[in-house]
Amino acid sequence: MAIISSVYSRWILDSRGNPTIQCTVELDQQGKKISATASVPSGASTGKHEALELRDEQKEFHGKGVSKAISNINQTIAENIVGKDFATAADIDELIIKLENSPNKTNLGANSVLGVSMAAHRAFANLSGIELWQYLRRLYFSDLPLAPKFPQLMCNVLNGGAHANNNLAIQEFMIIPQTGEIESDVQAASEIYHDLKNTLSSDGYSTALGDEGGFAPKFNLENIVNSQKDDSENPENIELKPSKIVLNYLNSAIEKSGYSGTKMALDCAANEFMELLDEEGNPVPSEDIKYKIDNSLLSRSELADYYMGLIQDYPIVSIEDGYGEDDILGWEILTETLGKKISLIGDDLFVTNPHRFQKIGLENQIANGVLIKLNQIGSVSETCQMINLAKENNYVTSVSHRSGETTDSFISDLAFAAQSEFIKLGAPARGERVVKYNRLLEIKDSL
Ligand code: PEP
Ligand code: MG
Repeated sequence: MAIISSVYSRWILDSRGNPTIQCTVELDQQGKKISATASVPSGASTGKHEALELRDEQKEFHGKGVSKAISNINQTIAENIVGKDFATAADIDELIIKLENSPNKTNLGANSVLGVSMAAHRAFANLSGIELWQYLRRLYFSDLPLAPKFPQLMCNVLNGGAHANNNLAIQEFMIIPQTGEIESDVQAASEIYHDLKNTLSSDGYSTALGDEGGFAPKFNLENIVNSQKDDSENPENIELKPSKIVLNYLNSAIEKSGYSGTKMALDCAANEFMELLDEEGNPVPSEDIKYKIDNSLLSRSELADYYMGLIQDYPIVSIEDGYGEDDILGWEILTETLGKKISLIGDDLFVTNPHRFQKIGLENQIANGVLIKLNQIGSVSETCQMINLAKENNYVTSVSHRSGETTDSFISDLAFAAQSEFIKLGAPARGERVVKYNRLLEIKDSL
């Protein structure tokens, strides 16, 4: 048991330069005082079913201020937990979730609740003198086998969609090293990333970075089409596919680096290219919804065929958010077409919410994987409940960062503790991304 002696929150800047919550929790166990701090991430392609990220919506920080969320911690949450005795961090979550008392954390805000939850878990681990991952394992995943199992790295080396100012519909083009060891996987990610940089730059493309540290080149599609036409016997048959151009670059970087078994993954974030309105701006009936990708307007089944074509041509083993968050029919087609071949991961679809996963995923039998983002649900204990529910139902999990990140490496401990199949952690570049890679290396060393 330990008494919470103080809870304090402040704002800090995230990787996009927007304010976010940082929180410190101090525990007192018979006079022994231990504190820990945690920081909350923030998304850009945010699903509409996610728990509420409470922002001030005032002039400050272009509406993104977090002063209300801070006072919810420093006043409301603090008043209810400081001075009380708790056996575990999960008990603290339970009390705050009751206090919050709304399905989507619309009262106190998921950012407030999560800040306290993450810091409390870290503080309890510190108090017990163990690593964060060990504490999480004991508390939530004690049934897992003892053998250490590192997640496969999903490294977003080329950014599009809402994470880049370029012309790519697909948001994330990822590589998944397959060396079988965590250190050499990190090394492969780094080497492939640099080979990609060299190839892009020798072809005259910018190697400026997108939000997750991957490159964000603007491909001059017209030039590429024209050069393909020059080479082709039937120029009118040329179909321009920007995604394939990117995947070819990934292929050649993998080849150049010598890590030939490396796999690939996509996060399509299809909400962002779903066409819900017709040319006059009127809503289209659900059966006519289309997806605008790679210069084509595709029906649901054409999109499934398109993805099928990509997995035949490239070593893609996972597609995330291939259809929109409410397009159950699209997901059914996708699951039917590709569900036995690759991982189909629901991000905006499930929003790390066990109730939504039960209702949308299990009842319709769609997808076969769940993306796990702490701030989509807003507490560590509910996140772990989601991971366990996914595992019980043979869905794979990918523990994920957000596009707006901090230098907190909580997700690395969580992915390792939960023996998650994957961790999605951006490119091996920039402090807020590399800290997650480096934490995995530290965990390996500490075993
Ligand atoms: C994602 O969509 O998986 C992602 C990490 O991006 P964001 O944080 O912007 O939702
Ligand atoms: Mg996603």
